[in-house]
Amino acid sequence: MLEKFERYPLTFGPTPIEKLSRLSEHLGGDVEIYAKREDCNSGLAFGGNKVRKLEYIVPDAIKQGADTLVTIGGVQSNHTRQVAAVAAKIGMKCRLVQESWVPFNDAVYDRVGNILMSRVLGAQVELIDEGFDIGIRQSWENALKDVEAKGGKPYPIPAGASEHPLGGLGYVNFAQEVREQEAELGFKFDYIVVCTVTGSTMAGMVVGFAADGRAKHVIGIDASATPEQNHAQVLRIAQQTADLVELQQPITKDDVVIIDDYAYPAYGVPSNETNEAIRLSARLEGMMTDPVYEGKSMQGLIDLTRKGFFPKGSKVLYAHLGGVPAINGYSYLYRNG
Ligand SMILES: *Cc1c(COP(=O)(O)O)cnc(C)c1O
Repeated sequence: MLEKFERYPLTFGPTPIEKLSRLSEHLGGDVEIYAKREDCNSGLAFGGNKVRKLEYIVPDAIKQGADTLVTIGGVQSNHTRQVAAVAAKIGMKCRLVQESWVPFNDAVYDRVGNILMSRVLGAQVELIDEGFDIGIRQSWENALKDVEAKGGKPYPIPAGASEHPLGGLGYVNFAQEVREQEAELGFKFDYIVVCTVTGSTMAGMVVGFAADGRAKHVIGIDASATPEQNHAQVLRIAQQTADLVELQQPITKDDVVIIDDYAYPAYGVPSNETNEAIRLSARLEGMMTDPVYEGKSMQGLIDLTRKGFFPKGSKVLYAHLGGVPAINGYSYLYRNG
């Protein structure tokens, strides 16, 4: 499906699949839980899912003769940090718009974790006081115009690289990679659990797994707390990506399965249950997750397993998409662990 698209390698290669034996056992032992470690996918400033997406976007930026990658996210955005690292690696400049999407007030929230790294990586960071929205933002369009006005050649990358026409390809590639790993392992996963916010990670997976009839086995866990917008965005990006890769079948509304029970109280704000999930996977598996994204999908994985959502004997693959650096912005919350 991806042969005709150029890929600029930014990752170490296929990411490891690890069995989470102690977590599976703790949750009753009826379901076997595995993690695919996208959080360990690259040496570029801790990596994560955006690096996999950017492998298919960078060739276009180079082809267009751009000299500055311009993107947007929240103050503790993993995406902007990964774009900053990729810009450094390919010798481009980087301009980041960081909006105050998260109503969280740790004293050092805008100094540590992702934003700290983006600054050290040499990106020009601009803080903007605007609320959460996964759509296209005026502040980002202004930054693009400003780079141009100063004689630069900006390359626009929308939030999460999701609204980019090539944004879904990285996770079509993920599905192909899983299929190859399944062939080696000698079994297939029954479900794939993935956090979703701006949509192209899940959309790419839906398309990639639709190829072998498993679109509905991709279980999205919403962390945006705007689930209708999220569902519409995943569906739209999946359909557009399916056209692009010439998937020989339609993607419909029912192919996009998103559970919206875990995003409360708000995007970027963890609930007590999210924090318990973060502690549980850390203490049973040594696997860290963050309070914005993966902690919520981990909470979903744990709760769905306990509720019997996955039939006995199921093999479930948790896609760990990265994001741990953001936990530094929540130091007060975890002051006692
Ligand atoms: C961006 C991100 C997500 C969500 O991916 P989308 O493609 O925006 O839906 C999930 N987890 C982490 C750690 C992320 O950085």
